[in-house]
Amino acid sequence: MSSEQPASEEQVVLYERRGPIAFVTLNRPEYRNAQNSKVTYALDAAFVRAVDDDDVKVIVLAGNGEHFCAGHDIGTPGRDVDESFERKAVIWWDHTRKQGVDRRIAREAEVYLGMCRRWREIPKPMIAMVQGACIAGGLMLAWSCDFIVASEDAFFSDPVVRMGIPGVEFFAHPWVMNPRAAKEFLYTGGRFSAQRAHELGMVNHVVPRERLEAEVVELAERISDMPSFGLALTKKAINQAEDLQGMRSGMDSVFGLHHAAHAHNAEVSADSLAGLDARGMAKANKRAEEAR
Ligand code: ZN
Repeated sequence: MSSEQPASEEQVVLYERRGPIAFVTLNRPEYRNAQNSKVTYALDAAFVRAVDDDDVKVIVLAGNGEHFCAGHDIGTPGRDVDESFERKAVIWWDHTRKQGVDRRIAREAEVYLGMCRRWREIPKPMIAMVQGACIAGGLMLAWSCDFIVASEDAFFSDPVVRMGIPGVEFFAHPWVMNPRAAKEFLYTGGRFSAQRAHELGMVNHVVPRERLEAEVVELAERISDMPSFGLALTKKAINQAEDLQGMRSGMDSVFGLHHAAHAHNAEVSADSLAGLDARGMAKANKRAEEAR
């Protein structure tokens, strides 16, 4: 992934404009682009920059390195769930001053559900360019985009049922694939290949890894021929249709179940994630794959 800026831990998200395309790139490759709040706010700032630039017609969301995004940060040294950030997505109080469910809902309504909804409503077409892992919180980023173009090696999974939690916060599963597939996806926590995701309509195109960027650029350039306002209205039209199919209200109701699960975990186990950090999850998922 080329960029105007050198990669460093400080620049957790890179921004580059190439003609009518803004590339917004997750840049924590050493942690498979695990998303902490710092990343969330850096993504938001990059998207605002792309929306404000009239020369940008299409936004591409990419991940630097081998993987698109391994999920929310539940175990790197940069984990920042206890830090305070200037809120952008919802008007609610700062989570760091609260405890228990009050604290968790305040944070997740802003940093996860609220931000993904805000990004889904960005008035420019967005393409997720996915290679390697797209897991849990990574799905939320890809699903917030209009299209997903994936390389042949890409895979998708939401293993959080292992924590006793009914899927990630941006609960688009039954809408981005059919409900039966969504159940299999969640009940097994297993990987859906790019090809399987394509068959289910979740992924627009599957291309060889070495062609991924070129195919995305070609698609983005074709879209760039259309008038910006027409694209914005069309995006709104399709999003409204999805919401009329229950996506927005469905997500709201599942957000309550999600937080019942976090609270249950906090009550009966080590913490709200059932005592599972990134390493624990990876181990449990590997055991399950090997047992097959
Ligand atoms: Zn959560």
